[in-house]
Amino acid sequence: MLASLRKAGSLARAASAGQRRFLSIHEYQSVNLLNSYGIPTPRSIAAKTPQEAYEAAKQFDSTGCVIKAQVLAGGRGKGHFDTGLQGGVHLVESPEQAKDYASKMIGSKLITKQTGAAGRICNAVMLAERRDPSHEYYVAVLNDRSVGGPVLVASAQGGMNIEEVAANDPGAIITTPINFEKGLSQSEALDLAKKLGFKSEGAQSEAADIFIRLYQIFKDKDATQIEINPLGETSDGHVLCMDAKFGFDDNAEFRQKDIFALRDISQEEPSEVEAQKFGLNFIKLDGSIGCLVNGAGLAMATMDVLALHGGNPANFLDVGGGATPETVKKAFEILVSDPKVKSIFINIFGGIMRCDYIAEGVINAAKELSLTVPLIVRLKGTKEAEAKEMIRQSGLKIIPFDDLDEAAHNAVKLAI
Ligand code: GDP
Ligand code: MN
Repeated sequence: MLASLRKAGSLARAASAGQRRFLSIHEYQSVNLLNSYGIPTPRSIAAKTPQEAYEAAKQFDSTGCVIKAQVLAGGRGKGHFDTGLQGGVHLVESPEQAKDYASKMIGSKLITKQTGAAGRICNAVMLAERRDPSHEYYVAVLNDRSVGGPVLVASAQGGMNIEEVAANDPGAIITTPINFEKGLSQSEALDLAKKLGFKSEGAQSEAADIFIRLYQIFKDKDATQIEINPLGETSDGHVLCMDAKFGFDDNAEFRQKDIFALRDISQEEPSEVEAQKFGLNFIKLDGSIGCLVNGAGLAMATMDVLALHGGNPANFLDVGGGATPETVKKAFEILVSDPKVKSIFINIFGGIMRCDYIAEGVINAAKELSLTVPLIVRLKGTKEAEAKEMIRQSGLKIIPFDDLDEAAHNAVKLAI
């Protein structure tokens, strides 16, 4: 049950990532963006060294502060570092303590529910003025398929895992459709703030103002998601965003240059970054069969047929129609650098893509990398005969198939 769920999850991830990926930015960058729209947050300072963290914490000496690992993943509070330190968010009593935490966080990897077992490197921390909210809410702006437009999702049960709230108490989540052009009206926003239970009139109006402005950012910046958790209400009746996660639409990169300049590739899977440089559409997955395919649709079908035969793909890879022997060779290098890969399945439908280019790239890579994993190759279409002849003459141990099921069956068998 679990294994099949995991498989379904990774396939879904590959399917959506094949179309577009969402740029994510660090919390300290999100804070700047929120503040530039007049949205209040606790005062905060980013630090890249323990000494900088010490200096930053000095500025909050009277109030105390929080130190927060800047890693692009949710669930930091409940995460742990590879060095053993529990938690990516801590209350700090003194500048010395801030320095001590920073030295344990910076340069280490934080593992959370969203990072996978490998975790993500923490290269910076954020020191934020300590605030003790009397209540924590949840608010997000995102596009909703069923509504056919943006919605504001809010709950009075913030601070915790919203997926759990949605599962255990779906009535606790209020979804408000937003008019794409006009945004949220003052009265809609105020009604929502009252429904959520903000106590004083002042807090209600501050919350409403935040809702309206969050959508303005969402629209102006081509965001796909803004999530504030927690949105804190203080005992003296103020409202502030105490954590923020943004996602931005990759298709908007051309007109959101300032936002996309914030990309931090240290937070991305290195093999995916490398593949992107060569125009390869590559997503790393957790299985044992490396896949090299042309066309996103065929790549998805290939993963399905492997799953059908009981196998698990190690990646999604669409080399595209414009692949050359050089990019194919690069794709190969990326595949074999994954120690989990036990067999490689090359499934090519030659149309614009020429099978002999694939063969040339594969042969060169196999020779240069002195490949030991078995290669299962299915080539169909343009220059198929030439490609097959090249493979035959290469003298390499490449196992050719014409039938897709037979090829997949063998790729799975050889990966065990
Ligand atoms: P996440 O775990 O990645 O979502 O990180 P958050 O920034 O949301 O921090 C985790 C939790 O730490 C929050 O949900 C808050 O409950 C708590 N927290 C963060 N900042 C403060 C603060 O200034 N004061 C207090 N009391 N709690 C805080
Ligand atoms: Mn949070």
